[in-house]
Amino acid sequence: MRAVVIGTGPAGITAAETLRRLDPTGSVVALSAEDSPPYSPPAMADHFLTGRDEPLYWKGRDVAGRLGIEERRGARVAGIDTDSREVVLADGGRIPYEGLVVASGSRLYAPLTGADLPGLLDFKSLRSATEIVERVRRGEVTTALIVGNGFIGVELSLLLADLGVDVSIIGRRNWVMPRVLDPMASDLAESALVARGVTLRLGMEATAIVGDPSADGVQLADGTVMRADLVVAATGVKPHTEFLEGSGLATDWGVHVDEGLATSVPGVTAAGDVAEAIDRFTGERYVHAIFPNAVAQAPIAAANLLGAGLRYDGAEAMNSLKHLGIPIVSIGTIDTPDEVLRWQDGAHLRALYLRDDRIIGAQLVGDIGAAGIYHSLILRRQPVGQFGARLVEPGFGMADLAFDAVGYAGHLAPA
Ligand SMILES: Cc1cc2nc3c(=O)[nH]c(=O)nc-3n(C[C@H](O)[C@H](O)[C@H](O)COP(=O)(O)OP(=O)(O)OC[C@H]3O[C@@H](n4cnc5c(N)ncnc54)[C@H](O)[C@@H]3O)c2cc1C
Repeated sequence: MRAVVIGTGPAGITAAETLRRLDPTGSVVALSAEDSPPYSPPAMADHFLTGRDEPLYWKGRDVAGRLGIEERRGARVAGIDTDSREVVLADGGRIPYEGLVVASGSRLYAPLTGADLPGLLDFKSLRSATEIVERVRRGEVTTALIVGNGFIGVELSLLLADLGVDVSIIGRRNWVMPRVLDPMASDLAESALVARGVTLRLGMEATAIVGDPSADGVQLADGTVMRADLVVAATGVKPHTEFLEGSGLATDWGVHVDEGLATSVPGVTAAGDVAEAIDRFTGERYVHAIFPNAVAQAPIAAANLLGAGLRYDGAEAMNSLKHLGIPIVSIGTIDTPDEVLRWQDGAHLRALYLRDDRIIGAQLVGDIGAAGIYHSLILRRQPVGQFGARLVEPGFGMADLAFDAVGYAGHLAPA
């Protein structure tokens, strides 16, 4: 097959690799709008702090050459002609395909006045992240304002603090990482952030990025303007779908895909942050923009172009914060539980969100060793009422589950 992959992020390069493996005589063209080899965004902070290349270029800088993939960098796709089956590049070039994987990921979403000002940077692409760090290393930045208290803003604040910058996070909600952490887990994260030198300005609404000629401040809803040497937007991400307009692919927030990750157009699949895939628990389409989902979807999107007929189990929400100094894991959802079980001892916390006697979400801070067990209980949708409050206590583990299984088997055994 003549296969084309749009994107060489975690999803794109994994899809290209799969196509090459399953179809050794076919051709695989992988396109990236960026100039760098395929990289892993979660490894950017570590790369800038340690100078290490390996986790960042997680498949190796030479992955395309090694596998016989035709990788084109700086090749921005402007559209897809699904009638003639051609990818249309911004420079006017056209690339024919028999099968196409859309893995164009996500971009910064900054619905703020002044978001187009020069000098406003983000921590979403390696190029922008590199510019941030180069400005710091050139001595141009002693103060920084990050707009957005989500995962990416927090990760960048820690990097800047470690590089000696006086950094503040401005967040609309009253606690950090509100989409991922509940307020109590967030409390512990906030203490760790403050201890690392990050200033938190929470419960403040940023309305505009200001500066002339380039971004040097943030205006708040009450009219106050805060200034800094560096202003970064970390207000959220949005699937890269603009170039699909007019292509016939059904999109909403992301690209609609079915259980085989096929889009609404024959011969085109999608994977990663761009795909609005079925949520494993709710059965509804949702973009869970995390690395494990991207690399789980990509092989299926690729193999199904070749007729494999694989079914994707569904995307899920799972986040871990690596750089805070205390381990934090959040699994599933904290929305609309009918019961919450908590255990806390100082900076160690466990919270389980239950609905209809099943765990729908888990938050672990400090000791995250039980994350696997809770994840498995969530996936199995196992009723957990029989465990009572013990479910959330530190001693709860495999032994409880094994005992439960024995008891269950005994219950089924003939008298
Ligand atoms: C700072 C940071 C930290 C993160 N930490 C974590 C973490 O700890 N754990 C976790 O699970 N997830 C984390 N994530 C999220 C994770 O990085 C993403 O879920 C993952 O990168 C998605 O992979 P993707 O290939 O779908 O998209 P992306 O990584 O966004 O890659 C998209 C690719 O598409 C290309 N592209 C886009 N538009 C076009 C176009 N028009 N033409 C050609 N090419 C195009 C881009 O150049 C790029 O190659 C983090 C993200 C960031 C930014």
